[in-house]
Amino acid sequence: GNNLMQGKRGLVMGLANDKSIAWGIAKTLADAGAELAFSYQGEALKKRVGPLAEQLGSDIVLPCDVADEASMDALFADLGARWDGLDFIVHAIGFSDKNELRGRYVDTSRGNFTMTMDISVYSFTAIMQRAEKMMRPGASALTLTYYGAEQVMPHYNVMGVAKAALEASVKYLAEDLGKDGIRVNAISAGPIKTLAASGIGDFRYIMKWNEYNSPLRRNVTIDDVGKAALFLLSDLGSGTTGENLHVDAGYHVVGMKAVDAPDM
Ligand code: NAD
Repeated sequence: GNNLMQGKRGLVMGLANDKSIAWGIAKTLADAGAELAFSYQGEALKKRVGPLAEQLGSDIVLPCDVADEASMDALFADLGARWDGLDFIVHAIGFSDKNELRGRYVDTSRGNFTMTMDISVYSFTAIMQRAEKMMRPGASALTLTYYGAEQVMPHYNVMGVAKAALEASVKYLAEDLGKDGIRVNAISAGPIKTLAASGIGDFRYIMKWNEYNSPLRRNVTIDDVGKAALFLLSDLGSGTTGENLHVDAGYHVVGMKAVDAPDM
């Protein structure tokens, strides 16, 4: 490993299993010397997240449901009792009813629209409200987004609308917190087979399409995302805030199907 995160303490939110993007990020940060705390959603995930945290030398594993204000208050109270400062936050959380991650966006229900925005967008702002008080100058926050915010992708639907709002909130948060030396950025990751992604219709097709048509002619891994996260969360990213860094094998620059792409 390197020493880029030596002496830095941070909270990773959104670890579900060893396929999670949060896991790719956490591994890279730990390897660079970071001291990590984890939050998990619900008791069922505790037995998954506990051993993964332990693997990275962390014994701070705290429950948090971002839909619940009291649960978020408790998380930061617990964290504040363990640590007197915070250098980074990783927000790798998103959720929508999978029945609406297929078919037409126009059919989105009011209930799922509101819930998707609450969990996938507002939660990052709510976290930053609390984290701000613990963060030291030079601190850095990161969220995860997807190209479906910028261009229409099949089945991404309400999640695309939510990611567009999340990307806008990154810019507003960067402005508000920049005065205190806190940076706020997003990584726009290419498709990766995770628990959350398995809820998206025809996800295998989307993965294949990206593999055949991205400039690098491959999909990205959670380790690719981890390395970009290390840049944004370490001092290497000291001049970067409000940014949306694409870690998608270059797919976002492509205008049409590659001439060498197989028929699908
Ligand atoms: P994942 O299923 O491993 O992680 C999603 C996490 O969100 C889980 O840990 C889950 O517990 C958490 N979560 C959901 N609702 C929550 C709540 N109410 N309170 C607390 N936590 C809650 O899947 P992932 O793909 O690693 O997702 C991480 C982030 O990356 C998401 O924001 C996702 O939209 C984004 N992303 C994923 C891809 C992809 O292709 N997998 C691409 C771009 C962006």
